[in-house]
Amino acid sequence: MSEYILTIGLEIHIKLKSANKMFCQCKNEQNFDNLVPNTNICPVCTGQPGALPTLSADVLEKALLLGKALQCKINETSRFDRKSYFYPDLPMGYQITQLYHPTNTQGQVSFFLDNYTNERTIHIQDAHMENDTGKMIHAEGQAMLDFNRAGTPLVEIVTLPDFRSSEEVIEFLKELQRIVRYNNIADADLEKGQMRVDVNISVRKSESDPFGTRVEVKNINSFGMIKRAIEHEKARQEKIYEAGETFTQQTRGWDDPKGESYLMRSKEDALDYRYFPEPDLPPLHINDETFKRLNTQEIVIPHNIIKQLNEYGFNKEYINALISDKTILDYFTTILSSLTTWSEWKPEDFAKLIVKRIAWPIAARMKENFATIDTLKFSHRQFNEFIIKAQAGSLMENQLKIIMDEMLSTGKNSEEIIKEKGFDAPAMDNDEIALLAKEIVTENPSIVEQYKGGKTTTIWFFIGQLMKKTWGKTSPKIAQEIFEKLLK
Ligand code: ADP
Ligand code: ZN
Ligand code: MG
Repeated sequence: MSEYILTIGLEIHIKLKSANKMFCQCKNEQNFDNLVPNTNICPVCTGQPGALPTLSADVLEKALLLGKALQCKINETSRFDRKSYFYPDLPMGYQITQLYHPTNTQGQVSFFLDNYTNERTIHIQDAHMENDTGKMIHAEGQAMLDFNRAGTPLVEIVTLPDFRSSEEVIEFLKELQRIVRYNNIADADLEKGQMRVDVNISVRKSESDPFGTRVEVKNINSFGMIKRAIEHEKARQEKIYEAGETFTQQTRGWDDPKGESYLMRSKEDALDYRYFPEPDLPPLHINDETFKRLNTQEIVIPHNIIKQLNEYGFNKEYINALISDKTILDYFTTILSSLTTWSEWKPEDFAKLIVKRIAWPIAARMKENFATIDTLKFSHRQFNEFIIKAQAGSLMENQLKIIMDEMLSTGKNSEEIIKEKGFDAPAMDNDEIALLAKEIVTENPSIVEQYKGGKTTTIWFFIGQLMKKTWGKTSPKIAQEIFEKLLK
């Protein structure tokens, strides 16, 4: 089959993490799992006659922050539009959105591809506010309605058709998640429906050809599914063109278990939304004061941080560990800057020493225990002291690991642990180590037998025992050599 070029544009809905729903005082719940249906509603969000919408200040605030983070032009004047359609989960009979004059337009997002080696920038057409619908629940042969979600605030981000591969889409979405999470704008969990992605896909033969007919694929809620849906749709379209046929613009749903898409509606039966300016809301004017505040407000652009980490020469595992959670990243930055004020060292000198311990075991431990970094049992100062000791170079890697582990479990000072374990004692000489190794071999005849019978992986048992007995003062490599000789 001949080569086709893939073109992708995204429409992404992100649930804002504001205190209130978009146009009423109802609480803006982030998670509906444990909420009794229809307990978080009012006349406005259920569309009762006569109820009027008022834009919640903190919804606007979050939307503007997102606009800024996406490097959008924030328009001094924008508007809301009414998008009418009939569906039971839409209590007002229309959705309030921003079609003609969105608040945030013309943005861009940069991110890395191929494990932080290649940089890519894609363009944002607009990032507009709109309210969410309720939920229709089908159970026991009945259709039921829950309006708890109705009226919760969304920003829909529309990108230009800039993407050329599913990898680009996934890496962009990960950066987008970091942007909203690091700036406390949204949680953007795909599985929880806090981020919903519609993927527009077309193919063409050459960059000089016009874009092909696009297909919008909906109902995708994990990165894995997004990748599968894109690859499948690309192949499906190529096959049609190869057969000399064409198709019309359409919306398709993704059936993940089947691994294929199905037609939802074609352009001919597209809904007519009868858009018109929302009469119940005045135009939205952003005043100078708000612009001033916005200009001084600090926004974290995760990509810039990743760039910096890249410049320190960190490998992808280190970068991944640091950026997985903003609190871990902040911890790294705090330790780094405090160490630089403590000593004559430049950040580059310490960066690798610190990240090594934070990536493993600190971040790993946090993840394992679902704990946050503020529950660490040792202080910044204690960690700094540990790093200075590691930098001095007199402790072996095994010993440093043991110290760190002990600090994590007990919160003791590294100094104290070093004394307890005898790490400050003069190094063991080889005879001493060999003696201990012999002891271990005589104490474990059955394992020796297994080893000699061909189960050579049992050597790790012996190595482990020796490491314990020497308090890590020997390296696994030396231990292996000793046992290989002893067990011959
Ligand atoms: P509409 O006005 O029909 O909603 P838009 O121009 O707003 O269409 O585009 C909607 C989405 O589809 C955007 O994310 C855009 O990038 C994407 N898109 C537009 N044309 C194509 C195409 N030929 N191939 C892939 N994606 C496209
Ligand atoms: Zn309400
Ligand atoms: Mg559009």
